[in-house]
Amino acid sequence: MTETLPRFEDILEIVSGYNPECDEDLLRRAYVYSAMAHRGQVRVSGEPYLVHPLEVARILAEMHLDDLTIATGFLHDLLEDTWVSEEELEEQFGEHITGLVKALTKITTMEQSYAARAAAQAENVRRMLLASIADVRVILIKLADRLHNMRTLGYLHEEARRRIAAETMEIYAPIAHRLGMGRVKAELEDLALLHQHPEEYRRLTEQMRQREAMAAALIAEIRSMITKLLEENSISAEVRGRIKHLHSIWTKLRRQGIGLERVYDFLAFRLIVGTVPHCYGALGLIHQLWRPVPGRIKDYLAMPKPNAYQSLHTSVIGPEGQPFEVQIRTKDMDEIAERGIAAHWLYKEGKEPGQDAERVSWLRGLVEGHQENPRDFLNSLKLNLYPEEVYTFTPKGEVFAFARGATPIDFAYRVHTEVGQHCVGARINGKLMPLRTALANGDIVEILTSPNQVPSRDWLEIAVTARAQNKIRAWLNRGEKEQAVETGRKLLERECRKIGVSLKQLREEERLAQIAAEHGYGKEEDLLAAVGFGRISLRDLLAPLVRTRPVTPVPSPKDRAAAVPEGSVITVKGQRDLLTYRAQCCNPLPGDEIVGYITRGKGVAVHAANCPNVRKLLFTAEREVEVEWGGVTGAFSVPLHVSFEDRPGMLAAISQEANGENANIRSCHLATHEGQLGTADLVVDVNGRDHLEKLLVVLRRLPGVTTVETSVTTQTRHLRVL
Ligand code: MN
Repeated sequence: MTETLPRFEDILEIVSGYNPECDEDLLRRAYVYSAMAHRGQVRVSGEPYLVHPLEVARILAEMHLDDLTIATGFLHDLLEDTWVSEEELEEQFGEHITGLVKALTKITTMEQSYAARAAAQAENVRRMLLASIADVRVILIKLADRLHNMRTLGYLHEEARRRIAAETMEIYAPIAHRLGMGRVKAELEDLALLHQHPEEYRRLTEQMRQREAMAAALIAEIRSMITKLLEENSISAEVRGRIKHLHSIWTKLRRQGIGLERVYDFLAFRLIVGTVPHCYGALGLIHQLWRPVPGRIKDYLAMPKPNAYQSLHTSVIGPEGQPFEVQIRTKDMDEIAERGIAAHWLYKEGKEPGQDAERVSWLRGLVEGHQENPRDFLNSLKLNLYPEEVYTFTPKGEVFAFARGATPIDFAYRVHTEVGQHCVGARINGKLMPLRTALANGDIVEILTSPNQVPSRDWLEIAVTARAQNKIRAWLNRGEKEQAVETGRKLLERECRKIGVSLKQLREEERLAQIAAEHGYGKEEDLLAAVGFGRISLRDLLAPLVRTRPVTPVPSPKDRAAAVPEGSVITVKGQRDLLTYRAQCCNPLPGDEIVGYITRGKGVAVHAANCPNVRKLLFTAEREVEVEWGGVTGAFSVPLHVSFEDRPGMLAAISQEANGENANIRSCHLATHEGQLGTADLVVDVNGRDHLEKLLVVLRRLPGVTTVETSVTTQTRHLRVL
């Protein structure tokens, strides 16, 4: 497929269509900056990488979102996939956009084990949801990102396609659904179906195409009948006839175990009318014309779905005996049904785009207080994302919708946390019932409380909603948490000692608070508890500290051996776009045998194969990757430690020899010691292993020189074990 590069001007046109006062300058700057940072990068499809952020921005523009969100769409992959740093981004675009981009930057794990990948996936989802509570734009951008990735999924290999499609079905489509974004949800589901069941997808599409052709006349006929009927009764309406989306038909075939030829209600009509009374009026007229199917009339006007969806639904038996579905709603309701939370972002005169309190609190319920392991988190998330709903009432007639299987405990926590904590029983439809009774549609529930009651562990088995589960768990964990903090502190102290860092100092330098924040914890205490509960691995936690400590004392801090000038000098086999840098403990040079180790967030550290550090402590076999020298050009800085007899002209002699070998001296630090001994700490540029060896030979031969050492060789005394 050759997707042409979307034009910035087209996106701008969409935006100014709904928001004439948009900040064109901001959008253009974001676009240009993204183009610059992604320059030279290529997607798996072979297209320029820039296609992706442009398409994501376009999807966001089609959702009619605000400037800030669209600008972030252009920039959303910068921190993850380019050299742009947080500081630079903040300087260019400010705190707000940088915050959004940070929230969208995944933790990645190169670990191959399923458990490690699953844990990283859970953590990514958890962080994204947390960030979305603060600003729902995070999840809107993530959905746009996922949508474009799903549209271009075909270029990946099969295993990745299946994994991403499954994740889309389990997490992102349900989230889109719960946020009321019907259009995005439908497209995600259809694309997931294509990659999860390609054969069936193709067969179904083909069959649908044939039936659509056959049904065209029927659709036209029913449409004109409805239009005429409504006109005669002075209800103006827009009538749309359509074939249902593929995934919903497929689900139906699966559920009923039938073939497509036996599915009749793949036709659906939508009536968009002016007012609520017209909705009911139209429903009555439809029922006069065609007989309704019993049990299929649904009034989501009086009782909106939890995602705020409102519509009247009915199924009727059509002119030739085939059933079809009719949905009736107002224009506003249709807007909400198709675009959900994004509809709230529409610019109203002079108003800031608003949050949607109801849906945000639902998001909060999904993530708050989760103390268990990542797999449990994902399972409970999935359960809460795809509920079949039951509608229940308080004695005062307030409606609460729950996932099927919800019990009076869920109901009690829904009323109020305090009611939940103290509930002892429930009266359902006037009868006293046990707490584990599953609530049914239409139940009127009254909760009985006692001040002496407290939550118990078996409540976790009885409650099904994330909200109740989290509250119960939080209560039960209060005592356990104190213990976990203590355990976490001890573990952290021990681990810090191992790598020669003081916990006290970390705290004073506020590094600990920073690490806590990076892992999504607001307080140091929560971080320690997480360590104590075993939810974060200490290795991951401390990796950045190890990385930033200088491992080798190098001559001059200013001029220490620099990173490889170009990322392309060393490449990781099979993965050209990973960042690499030369480890400072051994400074490998072209010609050396090298191995790569994946560090957290900084790319791949390249060590000499015989560097003793590579086998130590933090490095584990899963992190090792094969690397190779690419087309090498340029100079590599190498520290040299030269000892010599202290006599005049030594430095001149040394620098002359270096010049003679074409090795540029970048810095030099001289010292004299007792016993007529002098030392020089130099940083010289060489172009590879052979060049260095030659230089060493020449310098060692120089009269007066006693030793020449470099951390680049393996026998160096500079090496300190981590
Ligand atoms: Mn992306």
